[in-house]
Amino acid sequence: MPYKDPEKQRESQRRRYWSNLESSRERSRKNTAKYAKCHPEKIKAAALARSPQEIKETQARCYVKHKARKNAQVSKWKRDNPDKVRALYHKRRAQKTQAGGFFTAEEWFLLCFAVGFRCLCCGLKKPLEADHVIPVSKGGSSWLWNIQPLCESCNVKKHDQTIDYRDSEQNSVDVSSSEKEIKIYGADSLLTNVSL
Ligand SMILES: [Zn+2]
Repeated sequence: MPYKDPEKQRESQRRRYWSNLESSRERSRKNTAKYAKCHPEKIKAAALARSPQEIKETQARCYVKHKARKNAQVSKWKRDNPDKVRALYHKRRAQKTQAGGFFTAEEWFLLCFAVGFRCLCCGLKKPLEADHVIPVSKGGSSWLWNIQPLCESCNVKKHDQTIDYRDSEQNSVDVSSSEKEIKIYGADSLLTNVSL
């Protein structure tokens, strides 16, 4: 529907864009790619025409303008993806150290699944944290082979000692109990019990 007021028209376009974000972005990406292919010289000229100062200013303006919305989106994503947030946290933390390494939320879930969602130290079924067998402070990496699921209190007690709880007899992998629980409660209920 044509609008007389250009501001109203823009508002309507904005609404449409946001109400169907995924396909809007896809369309926008395609259009940009098409334009860039047809007019490479224009893209190049536009890029060269902008001074670093100008680019910085535009970014700063965008940041202020969209700050609230961006923050809300980020908060929502964090609420919806606690496992991914934790995995990212460990990835960043590992990047700061020399040892490196990281694991994904899925790998962490599988690890918890393999130990029956129990703390490897006390054997209790509590929310689990990813403990570094060889602590990061002692050069331990964040690759999965250096990670063991512990509850918060056992993790705190272990602190910066190197103790491998995966060795002990009682912690032999007990997949059957996890399978049973998944049947009773569903995989989602177990996932909510797992945080890195
Ligand atoms: Zn424990």
